[in-house]
Amino acid sequence: MDAYQQLKMLSAQMNLEPAEEADGRGGVSMPKLSPAKEDSLCVGTAQLGGGQKIKLLKTLLTSACERNCYYCPFRAGRDFRRATFTPDEFARTFMALQQKGIAEGLFLSSGVAAGGSSTQDKLIDTAEILRGKLGYRGYLHLKVMPGAEREQVERAMQLADRVSINLEAPNTRRLQELAPRKQFIEELVQPLRWIDEIRRTRPGMQGWNGRWPSSVTQFVVGAVGDSDLELMQTTDYLYRQLRLRRAYYSAFTPIRDTPLENVPPTDAWREHRLYQASFLLRDYDFQLEDLPFEKSDQNLPLDTDPKLAWARMNLLEPVEINRAERRALLHIPGIGPKTADAILAARRQSKLRDLSSLTKLGIAARRAAPFILLDGHKPPYQHTLW
Ligand code: SF4
Repeated sequence: MDAYQQLKMLSAQMNLEPAEEADGRGGVSMPKLSPAKEDSLCVGTAQLGGGQKIKLLKTLLTSACERNCYYCPFRAGRDFRRATFTPDEFARTFMALQQKGIAEGLFLSSGVAAGGSSTQDKLIDTAEILRGKLGYRGYLHLKVMPGAEREQVERAMQLADRVSINLEAPNTRRLQELAPRKQFIEELVQPLRWIDEIRRTRPGMQGWNGRWPSSVTQFVVGAVGDSDLELMQTTDYLYRQLRLRRAYYSAFTPIRDTPLENVPPTDAWREHRLYQASFLLRDYDFQLEDLPFEKSDQNLPLDTDPKLAWARMNLLEPVEINRAERRALLHIPGIGPKTADAILAARRQSKLRDLSSLTKLGIAARRAAPFILLDGHKPPYQHTLW
């Protein structure tokens, strides 16, 4: 098998892993990719912070792994054809793809072989060859391996535009049921703490391109009874304490020949509601206790946007758009961070008196209408539209 075929195989295998979702704020967005064919590269369109779109190759350095995570297609002992690159082989193969215009950016992960620290060394070696020897200046997202050391995390941060470590589960108990050989705090949360500490205490000039990379994580949702409340508690901690750019949620899909192969897949709507709720925590000034978890199972309602559910329970008195503070505006359905700022700017010029003036500001005025007053008057709305 030549290097290009090997890369196609690894990349196609990588696509069996949960895909990243779009990132709305200054990172990379990676739409869900359709299932890869055996011999196809996993290349998706990614949008960088400045709006630039690139072709992002998502792949592994090796699909060999000594760990046994219950949900994972690469787990030790699973029977499938594996492939491994050396750092130098991989870097040169990727550069050839880049020069042909097939890929412009790289998301590089790996199975764990000979320990997390040794695997992290190989990822770092690959990034050093790309950045140093081969002069690659494009986008690079590097995975941090469970068991990586602090110095390795810092070195990865000097080479990458983004780093990530997947928590997979919201807490120690759930991780035990998903991936019993991973240690939640010591191996997964601790590197995220180091990343935040390095960003806070070391000069940004030491990072790639003069700034420290953003950090993200991912959860596998719904395989072992984890509730949305548990997932949001951890997400809230990550956003507020560790300044994570984004948490990704991946609805569990059973993989043949794994211990969870008979567990039913998680409803895709659950993943969607978790994203909506996490944006409320990150961008809309909601607190964890604001989120409308069901008492029965501590999950979010599947059939309603969590912001709308909150508004129906809490916005019993309409909010005057011409006087409300930014936080109150952000809690109204149909109004987001940008449009809240647009309202604040517009009402300095003149009063907002009708729904059409809100529509001109980019607000989903019909969604907002049941919950607002415009200069003391309730705007007309139809129940069927919300
Ligand atoms: S360590 Fe990573 S690659 Fe290995 S089995 Fe677990 S999730 Fe899969």
